Amino acid sequence: MKILLTEQELQLGIERLAKQISLEYGERPITIVAIMTGSLVLLADLIRRLEMPIRVSLIQASSYRGGTESGNLDVNDSTMLDIQGRDCLLVDDIFDTGKTLTRVTERLKSLRPASLKSIVLLYKEGRQEFPLEPDYFIFKIPDEFVVGYGLDYQDLYRNLPYVGVMEQVDLDAHHLAHPPA
Ligand code: 5GP
Ligand code: MG
Repeated sequence: MKILLTEQELQLGIERLAKQISLEYGERPITIVAIMTGSLVLLADLIRRLEMPIRVSLIQASSYRGGTESGNLDVNDSTMLDIQGRDCLLVDDIFDTGKTLTRVTERLKSLRPASLKSIVLLYKEGRQEFPLEPDYFIFKIPDEFVVGYGLDYQDLYRNLPYVGVMEQVDLDAHHLAHPPA
């Protein structure tokens, strides 16, 4: 698989972001709201580099229904912590059309946090369809379907330590190894 971001590049990027967050929030407690499942690995790496008191809250949003094309968005916030009056940081794996971040931001704002900012690991260039932009992104990437470091294709590849491009040869190999049931 073609590697877009190595393990080392990812770690350096997260280190940079953690420093920026620390500068901005200082010792203020923050509640991180992570959009599952794609932001799982970023979440684990990021929170270990932050020293202020951190609460972790999970929200489930799935827009890719099995393939590489975006479908409807399902949001499940049954595992959310109370965020009213809290400084919140919303974390997602990748900003593509912007639909997920827009919808989840609307949902969180209705819960009246004291402040709300958003972070994404990857910002896919040229895909945006919504006016909302993330407050921080770690890497800008070209318009290609990527997997690894939390991101999946049909629920696999999240455990790759790098971000790679799922090209046609990789898709073909995947479908040979995992034929539809
Ligand atoms: P958006 O709602 O911005 O169109 O898409 C964001 C969501 O779509 C992300 O949270 C992610 O789950 C999924 N997504 C978008 N682009 C990619 C991609 O290149 N690879 C993977 N694995 N997921 C993607
Ligand atoms: Mg996602």
